[in-house]
Amino acid sequence: HKINIAIDGTSGVGKSTIADIVAQKLDMTHLDTGAMYRCVAYYLVSNHVDIQDSTALEKALHDIHIRFDDKVVYLNDVDVSKAIRTNEISMATSKVAALEPVRKKMVALQQEIAKEKGYILDGRDICTVVLPDAEVKIFMSASPSARADRRYKEYINQGIDADYDEILHDIEQRDYQDSHRAISPLKKAEDATEIDTSNMGIQQVVEAVLKLIPV
Ligand code: C5P
Repeated sequence: HKINIAIDGTSGVGKSTIADIVAQKLDMTHLDTGAMYRCVAYYLVSNHVDIQDSTALEKALHDIHIRFDDKVVYLNDVDVSKAIRTNEISMATSKVAALEPVRKKMVALQQEIAKEKGYILDGRDICTVVLPDAEVKIFMSASPSARADRRYKEYINQGIDADYDEILHDIEQRDYQDSHRAISPLKKAEDATEIDTSNMGIQQVVEAVLKLIPV
């Protein structure tokens, strides 16, 4: 498919899962832009970079090289796929993603990658900022409790201890941070199609997305 698909939505709404499946079906490439912001946060936290220090931040951004190999994410050639998914990094990412120099670099990278077409990008500002001219623009939503339910079940299924209230609280906090920041706050682009997945299974969401793809 020589088109791009842009998907925005809140944390834990299932954007990545859906983007993965749709990309496979349509022989497109999924670019998980959240993973890119997570890499930046992981680097800044690991290297104790003071994000208030603009010179230190610029230097760090210059030293960060992100590469994807299928599902594996490499930060300066180290596989960080697991390390960037911890709760600590999720919360840090939400803060780091509010920094202007960080967004500037990530957006430029994403636009460069998607120039070729054939990409599905998922994130918070894809329809509004990164690819406002994407052929297909989608806003995925789900109530905080529906998202917390899913995340909770995921943890339990993996045998990981989980606290539902804590999960719900984290989701609400990230929603707030992502939608209230000064630069590129999360919001539905006017011309994006909203899919409320609160009461939908994965298969149903995939079908809803496929219906929006021009033939
Ligand atoms: O999608 P994911 O939960 O992995 O994203 C992690 C964080 O990265 C989000 O909470 C958000 O703050 C930030 N993000 C962003 N813009 C994007 C993708 C992610 O600000 N395009």
